[in-house]
Amino acid sequence: MLRKFSPEKFRSHFPILSKPLRSGKELIFFDNLATTQKPQCVIDKISEFYSTYNSNVHRGMYEFSEMATNGYEQTRTSLASYLCVKDPREIVFVRGTTEAINIVAHGFGRRFLIASDEILIGAVEHHANYLPWQILEREIGIRRRIIPLDENHCIDIGKYEKMFSDRTKLVAIQHINNVVGGVNDIEKLVKIAHKNGAKILIDGASSLASKKINISKLDCDFFACSGHKCFGPMGSGFLFGKYGLLMEMLPYNVGGNMVNTVRFEESIFKMPPDKFEAGTPDVAAVIGFGEAIKFLETVDMPSAQAYLGELTSYLGKKLAQISGITIYGKPAKSGIFSFNLEGIHAHDVATYLGNEGIAVRAGTHCAQPMMQILNVPGTVRISLCPYNTAKEIDIAVAALGACATTFKPKPRLGRN
Ligand code: PLP
Repeated sequence: MLRKFSPEKFRSHFPILSKPLRSGKELIFFDNLATTQKPQCVIDKISEFYSTYNSNVHRGMYEFSEMATNGYEQTRTSLASYLCVKDPREIVFVRGTTEAINIVAHGFGRRFLIASDEILIGAVEHHANYLPWQILEREIGIRRRIIPLDENHCIDIGKYEKMFSDRTKLVAIQHINNVVGGVNDIEKLVKIAHKNGAKILIDGASSLASKKINISKLDCDFFACSGHKCFGPMGSGFLFGKYGLLMEMLPYNVGGNMVNTVRFEESIFKMPPDKFEAGTPDVAAVIGFGEAIKFLETVDMPSAQAYLGELTSYLGKKLAQISGITIYGKPAKSGIFSFNLEGIHAHDVATYLGNEGIAVRAGTHCAQPMMQILNVPGTVRISLCPYNTAKEIDIAVAALGACATTFKPKPRLGRN
């Protein structure tokens, strides 16, 4: 285990971080919420799959297919164990959080919700946790009620508690806000939802990168996560769902691998998780995700989280010294900052930093309702990861300072 977390040791697992850019500059990767970089062991695992036993799962009677199926199912078992989920059948493999939330919205919504039923969602959710519910509102006539926020852009627990009625069937809420980095107290949110007889879905898109999540203790009904935001490959992710609910829910995608019997008249679906894994999955991504979980098991997560907290405070202090900066929200040690430099478009700031080898994100971050609340067209976002360093922060802040004082915007047409 990387006991008493060593940032240097942790960083050394990520080959891309020591590879110079075409410009010759060193990469400073501050866009970790979009996707994290991958450790060598994950890259090797994917390469091993394609170069030694590439085949489909759950259908071949030959050695390679058995190896692929074993690797795929082993990820389910190790993921369940890492998350303290007792029954691995409660883990459904998906391409990412977006697909996981759509499975719940369509599978749970169409099965259990009727017109005038209410679901509670946060005011600043990612589009992935916004649009599926808007569609159900249009199609079934459910009511979406928006939970007000406190001054840190987190769920206002007092107000949340007062919103339940006997029509409230589901709460869908993010764990870590992807624009300003607020961290919701999901333990409390789950308890309050259950006390009021509602089910709860946690959008934990990026939670595993710096937190250990004990799903059995948390007791949420659904948990959605993207593997690629937690050191796993693109195209990997999972939906946790309590087995009784998964059994009752309708499948979202239908097709091969998820049925027992297909007749002209009717068909019989397999039991979960197969019922939700129609078609050929991204086998290499799932097996690679299993390796990312093994990698995470070697990390002393409380120390990694403490280190990320230190980096967050350091960056917060440094950013605040830049002239003309507006920082939105109060980052809760999650390493996520959104800001603007006075008079400079967020895209221009990101391009300026990009030219210096510093990768950040700019725009609306798939969270346009949040931009409405902040009353800005977009922001620049830095999202840190435990492989980042204070030295990188110094370089990025110096570049931002130079941008704030020397950048001359060109007139632009048609951009907000
Ligand atoms: N939810 C949150 C809070 C996110 O930050 C993201 C991605 O940035 C998503 C959902 C969607 O994740 P994916 O694109 O991996 O499906």
